[in-house]
Amino acid sequence: MEINFYGVRGSCPTPITAREYKAKVMHILEHASQTWKGKKNKISLEELYDSLAPTLQRNIGGNTTCLDFTSTKGNHFIFDMGTGIRELGNSLAAKAFSDGLDLNIFMTHTHWDHIQGWPFFKPAYSPKVNINFYSCIKNLQERLERQQWDENFPITLSAMASQKNFHCLEEYEPIQIKEYTLTPFPLMHPGSCTGYQISNGDKSVLFCTDVELRENQLETIQKWNKNLTNCEILIIDAQYSSEESEKKIGWGHTSVSMAVRAAEILGVKKVVLTHFEPDHTDEVAMQIIEDEIKGNAHKVEIIIAYEGLKLSVN
Ligand SMILES: [Zn+2]
Ligand SMILES: [Zn+2]
Repeated sequence: MEINFYGVRGSCPTPITAREYKAKVMHILEHASQTWKGKKNKISLEELYDSLAPTLQRNIGGNTTCLDFTSTKGNHFIFDMGTGIRELGNSLAAKAFSDGLDLNIFMTHTHWDHIQGWPFFKPAYSPKVNINFYSCIKNLQERLERQQWDENFPITLSAMASQKNFHCLEEYEPIQIKEYTLTPFPLMHPGSCTGYQISNGDKSVLFCTDVELRENQLETIQKWNKNLTNCEILIIDAQYSSEESEKKIGWGHTSVSMAVRAAEILGVKKVVLTHFEPDHTDEVAMQIIEDEIKGNAHKVEIIIAYEGLKLSVN
C-alpha cells in the first residue's frame, strides 16, 4: 500500500504567512550565494536544492488532516476530510466525472479541522461516484448535514450528486473492505476520537490523530498493543513540546516525546509525527522535534510528516 499525506496541520488551516515566506526566500538566496561564491563550475540547481535544509526544501504545509491509503489494486481508503481532501479530490476529479469511482472514507471524529474540506471535494459532486463512510459516530450523516446548513454553505449534503452510504463501526471489531482489514479503537480526545489499524496481509499501520497521551496513560498504549499487533508504522498526533503539553492538559493532543515513546512501547518500526500546532512555523516545529528527541537512542525511525509525503508499506 502507499500512504499519501494531503494534510498534516492540526486544529486550523494554516497558510504560510508573507513574513515566513520572505524569511525562507532570504535564507535560500543566502545559501545559494555562499554555495556559488568563488566556484568556477557552478553546481546545478537540483544539487543546490538538495543541499538546502529540510525546512527550506519544503513546507510542512497548512492543510488539515487528510490521508489517502491507495492499495496496489488502486482502491482508495481516505482518512478524514480536513482541508487536505480538496487537493486529493482535484487529483481524482477527472476519473470521478468520466468512469466514476468507489471511495471509502474513514472518520476519526468531526472537529472542524477533520471535516472542513469535504464541501470542496469535487468527486462528491459526481453522480458516478459511490462513497462509503465508516466511523464509530452514530449520527455522522446528520453532523455533515449540519455543516452544510444554508447559513454555512450554499449546497446541502443531499444536493451533492454522489451516492453516500454511512456505516457505523464497533470499537475493536475488525471490518474487511476490499484488500484491507480495518480495526477502529478509542483515543483520548475531547468529544471522543477513533484510531484505526489498517492491515493488508501481514503489514499494518496505526493511524492515531487527535489523541492526548500522558505518562499515566501508557497502560492504554499497552492495551492497543494487546489488541493490535504486527504494526509497521504509527502515524500519531505530535502537536506540542513537552512544556506546552503540561500547559494544555485536556486539550486532546500529545507531545513529540510522548508520541515517540508510544511508538517504542508498541514496537513499531517507524513513527510518523503529524497534526502540527498552527502557531508553530516550520522552523519552530522542527526545533521542537529536535529538542524532544535528542539525547535518546530511539529504537524507531522518526519521520516528520509534510504535505506531499508518500510512504510505501510493502
Ligand atoms: Zn484535529
Ligand atoms: Zn480534534
